Parts: sequence; C-alpha cells; structure tokens
Amino acid sequence: MTIEYRLDQHRTLTTDLPGPRSAALAARRERVVAAGVSSGQPFYVQDADGGILVDVDGNAFIDLGSGIAVTSVGASAPAVVEGVREQVGHFTHTCFMVAPYEGYVAVCEALVEVSPGDHAQKAVLFNSGAEAVENAVKIARIATGRSAVVAFDHGYHGRTNLTMALTAKNAPYKGGDGTTFGPFAPEVYRAPMSYPFREENPQITGHEAAERAIRMMQSQLGGRNVAAIVIEPVQGEGGFIVPAPGFLPRLAEYAREQGIVFIADEVQTGFCRTGAWFAAEHEGIVPDLITVAKGMAGGLPLAGVVGRAELLDAVHGGGLGGTYGGNPVACAAALGAIATMRQEDLSGRARRIEEIVRPRLEALAAQTGVIGDVRGRGAMLAMEFVRPGTREPDAEIVQGIIAGCRSQGVVILSAGTYGNVIRLLPPLVIGEDLLLEAMDVLEAVVRDAAG
Ligand code: PMP
Repeated sequence: MTIEYRLDQHRTLTTDLPGPRSAALAARRERVVAAGVSSGQPFYVQDADGGILVDVDGNAFIDLGSGIAVTSVGASAPAVVEGVREQVGHFTHTCFMVAPYEGYVAVCEALVEVSPGDHAQKAVLFNSGAEAVENAVKIARIATGRSAVVAFDHGYHGRTNLTMALTAKNAPYKGGDGTTFGPFAPEVYRAPMSYPFREENPQITGHEAAERAIRMMQSQLGGRNVAAIVIEPVQGEGGFIVPAPGFLPRLAEYAREQGIVFIADEVQTGFCRTGAWFAAEHEGIVPDLITVAKGMAGGLPLAGVVGRAELLDAVHGGGLGGTYGGNPVACAAALGAIATMRQEDLSGRARRIEEIVRPRLEALAAQTGVIGDVRGRGAMLAMEFVRPGTREPDAEIVQGIIAGCRSQGVVILSAGTYGNVIRLLPPLVIGEDLLLEAMDVLEAVVRDAAG
C-alpha cells in the first residue's frame, strides 16, 4: 500500500462527547437546521483522512462508515484533492448542456471501461444516487415504451418521489408515525426478495426465490408490461442482504426473455466496495443499466447511469440532463478517485478487509448468541442482531452498541428493515492496524451488550 496519510492514524478521545465546541455547534444547529435531518453522531467534524475522523474538539475517531460508503479512497485522498484544486482554479461550472468539457467525457469513458461486459456502452452523469435511479427508470421507459417498474422487498433507492416509491421501508423514508410523504409515483410494484436469513423455508434456493418473484411479475403485471427491474445486488440500507446464489442470474435471464431492462442499483455496492468494481460481477451478471454514485467521486456529489449504448441512445436529445449533472469539479474528483482505486487495487483491499473482519464477526456470533447472521461481501459486512435463540429482531441492542463504540472512539452505522443490523463500511484505504483496533473495540462492546 502506497497511500500516505496526512493525519495521524490514531484514535484519541480528549473530551466527553460531545465536546464543548460540538455542543456549541449543536445549539446553533438546533435554531436553524430542519429537524427532519438527523445525524448519527453528536460531534462535528473538522478534519478527516484515511480511517480517521477528527472532531472540532480534537477527538479522533476510527471511521467504519465512510459517510455511508462514499469515502472509499479516504475523505481527503491526495489524487482527489489535487484534481479538485486544479479544476477549481480554472472553472467550477459551465453546465455540460451549455458548454461541454473534457472531465465529463473522461468520467463516462472510465464508467464504460470498469462496468461489466464487452458490449457497446455509454453513460450519463447526475448529482445523486436517487437522481441516477430516477434517470435509469426514465431511460428504461423510453427504450421499452412500457411503464411498470419492479423493485424488491427491503430495497432502498433514495428519497425523491419515484425513489421513495421504489424504496420498501416506510419509516423514516416514506413517512413518519401516522404521516406520509405520499402520494408516491405510480406504476411501481414490489416483488419478494431472496433474504436467506429470513426465509420461511431456509432450504429455498436462489433460483426458487427468483421463480417466486417471477410468478408475482407474471401474474400481477405480465412480463411484457414491465419496463424495468430495479435491484441492489447486495441490498445496502436493507441490511447488507446478499441474495442466495442463483437469484440474480435467474432474474437477469427472465428480464432478457421478457425484454425488461435489468437495472442494478450499485450506488452503495459499486467502485470496489464488495471486492470488485461492481457487485453484479460476483454472480457473472451483466446488467443492462447500472446506477452509480457514492464511492465513485471520493466525496464529491456525482452519480451516473452506465449501460447498453442502445438504451442510453434511445432517449431523444435534451431528454436527459440537469444544471449540475457531471459538474467539472466532481468529475475531477472522480478521475482522481478512480485512479486511486486502480493504483492501490482497492478491490483487493476490500477482499483483504473481508478476510480480516468476517472471521471475527463469525466468532463473535458463535460466542454471544445475539447475532443471528453475519453477511455481506468485501468491505461491506454486517451483523443482524436477534433475541437469543430466535429470529426476533433486536434493534435496541444495536443502538446500545453504536453508542458504546462511539464512547470509545469508533464510528459504526446501523441498517436494516428492522433497524437491527450493524453494518461496517470502512474506507478501503484504512490501515490494517487501525482496522484491527476498531474490531477489538467493536467486539468488546458487543460482548458487553450481550451480557
Ligand atoms: N440507491 C442505493 C442502493 C443507495 O444505497 C442510496 C443511498 N444510500 C441511494 C440509491 C440514494 O443515493 P443518494 O442518497 O445519493 O440520493
């Protein structure tokens, strides 16, 4: 590993949490920031690099969240910082729809190069994951002339109107306690997912689970009326659910048979996170369209849709775009991030992180009895917490573990339809010593919580 860190890669807590400066910021926030935006951590960040987040009071935390799978190359990766500095010194914006520039083209070239398959591909850029998903659906509808879209149980695709409709979980995304953000976009249908840990019949194969979803589509919609199937190859917010082997290939095959556009939402799984450029590769799938965001641009807002050229080109000129989509500064960041992924073999790093972390989580599950399932791929690993001896979700213990880790200087995130999953998303550039230290803390906190 050749990455040099700018910040000292050490965990240090020097104040109570939140410290006085964070507390002062929280008071300012309380007055002006909408209550609907909540933060998992009470401290305010001043600096971040490698596997470390430093708060305004000088506390240094080990980051096992990467800002929700974004800062895979670190939060201030040298190639990203350099690319951004260079670009902002020249121009920050022209709007690609007004006066185009090379960075946009270069990012699309990179997307076409790293996405699976050797068929003709093209790409288009946006600002956020949700916007990428919205546009993948727009493309599929124009290309097929159909309107129905199928998403899955436990799926998460964003917070805009169409992506809320595609998202499975109600609170907090689609509404609150007795309140709703609806009405939601029409022509969205939900199919059953393959969720090995929670199957009524634990023996069900991936192929059989796919047939179950296909039966639903055939009987309720008719395959020939479906424009797109939208699925995360490993579900992110849903709790790092890895479908049983064979599930995704059978769905992709069905989509091909019926002329349905198969959209892999790789916003969370893409760009080395699972140990490959894209998670679809683990099952040898070539999606028709892939949505990307998060990890691709080292923290700057950038998203895209990449896939079959004939689908991307089915849309009339002017039918896709947006003021900021493919902003030149974000493109420069993406080119730096992608170069870093290549140079540092971050897919290999993700696989190495799995080698280190997975056995420790499995041992913890065997020893404590509060973890029903350990799963994930690469540097996207999770534990699903249950009441001992049952599959009953335990969200409470998860909140306690997050707080326990924080008080010892480790940042982790929850996930899951039932809020009972702890997910680990370390920056792929985290040093091994720091990762091992974070695992020691996490293990001790889980053991303590398990009693
Ligand atoms: N799709 C997936 C799979 C995601 O994980 C997310 C974000 N968590 C989104 C879409 C939405 O991305 P954004 O928050 O950038 O709109």
